[in-house]
Amino acid sequence: MQTTHEPRIGLYPGTFDPITFGHLDIIRRAVKLFDVLIVGVAVFSGKNPMFTLEERVKMVEAEVAKINTKTIIKAVPMDGLLMHFAEENNANCIVRGLRAVSDFEYEFQMVGMNQRLNSEIETVFFMAAPQYQAIASRLVKEIAMLNGEVSMFVPEGVKTALVEKISGK
Ligand code: ADP
Repeated sequence: MQTTHEPRIGLYPGTFDPITFGHLDIIRRAVKLFDVLIVGVAVFSGKNPMFTLEERVKMVEAEVAKINTKTIIKAVPMDGLLMHFAEENNANCIVRGLRAVSDFEYEFQMVGMNQRLNSEIETVFFMAAPQYQAIASRLVKEIAMLNGEVSMFVPEGVKTALVEKISGK
Protein backbone atom coordinates (compact mmCIF):
# COMPACT_ATOMS: atom_id res chain seq x y z
CA MET A 1 0.00 0.00 0.00
CA GLN A 2 1.30 3.38 -0.95
CA THR A 3 0.92 6.09 1.62
CA THR A 4 0.45 9.61 0.45
CA HIS A 5 1.38 12.65 2.39
CA GLU A 6 1.66 16.36 1.95
CA PRO A 7 4.92 17.11 0.20
CA ARG A 8 7.61 17.73 2.75
CA ILE A 9 9.25 20.99 1.77
CA GLY A 10 12.48 22.07 3.44
CA LEU A 11 14.06 25.49 3.20
CA TYR A 12 17.82 25.83 3.60
CA PRO A 13 18.57 29.56 3.85
CA GLY A 14 21.97 31.17 3.63
CA THR A 15 24.18 33.60 1.82
CA PHE A 16 26.13 30.96 -0.12
CA ASP A 17 28.88 33.43 -0.96
CA PRO A 18 30.06 31.06 -2.38
CA ILE A 19 28.63 27.57 -1.85
CA THR A 20 31.20 25.26 -0.20
CA PHE A 21 31.62 21.54 0.47
CA GLY A 22 30.23 22.33 3.94
CA HIS A 23 26.91 23.56 2.48
CA LEU A 24 26.82 20.68 0.02
CA ASP A 25 27.32 18.16 2.78
CA ILE A 26 24.35 19.66 4.65
CA ILE A 27 22.24 19.55 1.47
CA ARG A 28 23.14 15.88 0.88
CA ARG A 29 21.96 15.05 4.38
CA ALA A 30 18.83 17.23 4.22
CA VAL A 31 17.47 15.71 1.00
CA LYS A 32 16.84 12.49 2.94
CA LEU A 33 14.08 14.27 4.86
CA PHE A 34 12.28 16.20 2.13
CA ASP A 35 10.46 15.82 -1.18
CA VAL A 36 11.52 19.32 -2.15
CA LEU A 37 14.47 21.24 -0.76
CA ILE A 38 14.58 24.95 -1.48
CA VAL A 39 18.00 26.48 -1.13
CA GLY A 40 17.11 30.08 -0.26
CA VAL A 41 19.88 32.37 -1.43
CA ALA A 42 19.71 35.60 0.56
CA VAL A 43 19.31 38.65 -1.64
CA PHE A 44 20.46 40.97 1.08
CA SER A 45 22.34 39.41 3.91
CA GLY A 46 24.07 42.38 5.48
CA LYS A 47 27.28 40.53 4.71
CA ASN A 48 28.31 42.52 1.62
CA PRO A 49 28.69 39.47 -0.61
CA MET A 50 31.60 39.01 -3.01
CA PHE A 51 29.34 37.38 -5.60
CA THR A 52 26.16 38.87 -7.02
CA LEU A 53 22.86 37.20 -6.22
CA GLU A 54 22.71 35.80 -9.75
CA GLU A 55 26.22 34.36 -9.48
CA ARG A 56 25.48 32.77 -6.10
CA VAL A 57 22.22 31.22 -7.35
CA LYS A 58 23.94 29.90 -10.48
CA MET A 59 26.74 28.30 -8.47
CA VAL A 60 24.22 26.62 -6.15
CA GLU A 61 22.21 25.37 -9.16
CA ALA A 62 25.29 23.96 -10.87
CA GLU A 63 26.43 22.07 -7.77
CA VAL A 64 23.08 20.72 -6.57
CA ALA A 65 22.41 19.39 -10.09
CA LYS A 66 25.21 16.88 -9.44
CA ILE A 67 23.52 15.41 -6.36
CA ASN A 68 21.94 12.04 -7.00
CA THR A 69 18.56 12.19 -5.27
CA LYS A 70 14.84 11.94 -5.93
CA THR A 71 14.32 15.14 -3.97
CA ILE A 72 13.73 18.20 -6.09
CA ILE A 73 16.37 20.77 -5.16
CA LYS A 74 15.74 24.36 -6.20
CA ALA A 75 17.90 27.45 -5.71
CA VAL A 76 15.64 30.44 -5.12
CA PRO A 77 16.57 34.07 -4.36
CA MET A 78 15.26 34.89 -0.91
CA ASP A 79 14.23 38.36 0.16
CA GLY A 80 12.63 39.72 3.29
CA LEU A 81 11.82 37.88 6.47
CA LEU A 82 12.82 34.20 6.54
CA MET A 83 9.51 33.03 8.02
CA HIS A 84 7.50 34.95 5.40
CA PHE A 85 9.59 33.36 2.66
CA ALA A 86 9.04 29.93 4.23
CA GLU A 87 5.27 30.51 4.39
CA GLU A 88 5.09 31.79 0.80
CA ASN A 89 6.92 28.68 -0.37
CA ASN A 90 4.88 26.29 1.82
CA ALA A 91 8.03 25.11 3.57
CA ASN A 92 7.30 23.10 6.70
CA CYS A 93 10.83 23.07 7.94
CA ILE A 94 13.95 25.24 8.03
CA VAL A 95 17.32 23.52 7.61
CA ARG A 96 20.46 24.94 9.16
CA GLY A 97 23.97 23.64 9.60
CA LEU A 98 25.95 23.75 12.81
CA ARG A 99 29.69 24.07 12.58
CA ALA A 100 30.81 24.66 16.09
CA VAL A 101 29.68 25.97 19.41
CA SER A 102 30.12 29.42 17.88
CA ASP A 103 27.11 28.86 15.58
CA PHE A 104 24.95 27.67 18.43
CA GLU A 105 24.22 30.92 20.24
CA TYR A 106 23.00 32.69 17.11
CA GLU A 107 20.99 29.72 15.87
CA PHE A 108 19.46 29.23 19.30
CA GLN A 109 18.16 32.79 19.30
CA MET A 110 16.91 32.53 15.73
CA VAL A 111 14.89 29.40 16.46
CA GLY A 112 13.40 31.04 19.54
CA MET A 113 12.28 34.07 17.52
CA ASN A 114 11.12 32.06 14.52
CA GLN A 115 9.00 29.79 16.72
CA ARG A 116 7.19 32.90 17.92
CA LEU A 117 6.63 34.07 14.34
CA ASN A 118 5.29 30.70 13.15
CA SER A 119 5.14 27.78 15.57
CA GLU A 120 4.16 25.35 12.79
CA ILE A 121 7.50 25.60 11.05
CA GLU A 122 10.23 23.50 12.63
CA THR A 123 13.98 24.02 12.38
CA VAL A 124 16.32 21.08 11.99
CA PHE A 125 20.08 21.15 12.31
CA PHE A 126 22.67 19.03 10.63
CA MET A 127 26.36 18.73 11.21
CA ALA A 128 28.68 18.24 8.31
CA ALA A 129 31.19 15.40 8.15
CA PRO A 130 34.32 16.22 10.19
CA GLN A 131 36.42 17.14 7.15
CA TYR A 132 33.86 19.78 6.14
CA GLN A 133 32.93 21.14 9.53
CA ALA A 134 35.45 23.94 9.65
CA ILE A 135 34.68 25.28 6.18
CA ALA A 136 33.27 28.80 6.11
CA SER A 137 32.68 30.87 2.97
CA ARG A 138 34.33 33.86 4.62
CA LEU A 139 37.58 31.97 5.20
CA VAL A 140 37.53 30.42 1.74
CA LYS A 141 37.35 33.94 0.27
CA GLU A 142 40.23 35.11 2.44
CA ILE A 143 42.39 32.17 1.41
CA ALA A 144 41.56 32.69 -2.27
CA MET A 145 42.38 36.40 -2.01
CA LEU A 146 45.81 35.47 -0.69
CA ASN A 147 46.29 33.05 -3.60
CA GLY A 148 45.90 30.01 -1.36
CA GLU A 149 44.62 26.65 -2.53
CA VAL A 150 40.87 26.27 -2.01
CA SER A 151 40.13 23.02 -3.83
CA MET A 152 39.69 21.17 -0.52
CA PHE A 153 36.87 23.55 0.40
CA VAL A 154 34.88 24.29 -2.75
CA PRO A 155 33.99 22.51 -6.01
CA GLU A 156 36.07 23.15 -9.13
CA GLY A 157 33.52 25.53 -10.72
CA VAL A 158 33.39 27.66 -7.57
CA LYS A 159 37.18 27.75 -7.37
CA THR A 160 37.34 29.03 -10.96
CA ALA A 161 34.70 31.67 -10.17
CA LEU A 162 36.71 32.78 -7.13
CA VAL A 163 39.92 33.10 -9.11
CA GLU A 164 38.14 35.06 -11.84
CA LYS A 165 36.40 37.35 -9.39
CA ILE A 166 39.60 38.10 -7.50
CA SER A 167 41.67 38.68 -10.61
CA GLY A 168 38.90 40.99 -11.86
CA LYS A 169 38.18 39.02 -15.03
P1 ADP B 1 24.41 32.65 6.73
O1 ADP B 1 24.58 33.99 6.11
O2 ADP B 1 23.00 32.30 7.03
O3 ADP B 1 25.36 32.30 7.84
P2 ADP B 1 25.91 30.79 5.16
O4 ADP B 1 25.87 30.66 3.67
O5 ADP B 1 27.18 31.24 5.76
O6 ADP B 1 24.73 31.72 5.50
O7 ADP B 1 25.46 29.43 5.82
C1 ADP B 1 24.19 28.88 5.62
C2 ADP B 1 23.99 27.76 6.61
O8 ADP B 1 24.94 26.72 6.36
C3 ADP B 1 24.17 28.13 8.06
O9 ADP B 1 23.25 27.38 8.83
C4 ADP B 1 25.58 27.71 8.37
O10 ADP B 1 25.75 27.43 9.74
C5 ADP B 1 25.65 26.44 7.54
N1 ADP B 1 27.04 26.06 7.20
C6 ADP B 1 27.91 26.75 6.45
N2 ADP B 1 29.08 26.10 6.36
C7 ADP B 1 28.94 24.95 7.09
C8 ADP B 1 29.79 23.84 7.42
N3 ADP B 1 31.06 23.80 7.00
N4 ADP B 1 29.29 22.86 8.19
C9 ADP B 1 28.02 22.92 8.65
N5 ADP B 1 27.17 23.93 8.39
C10 ADP B 1 27.61 24.93 7.62
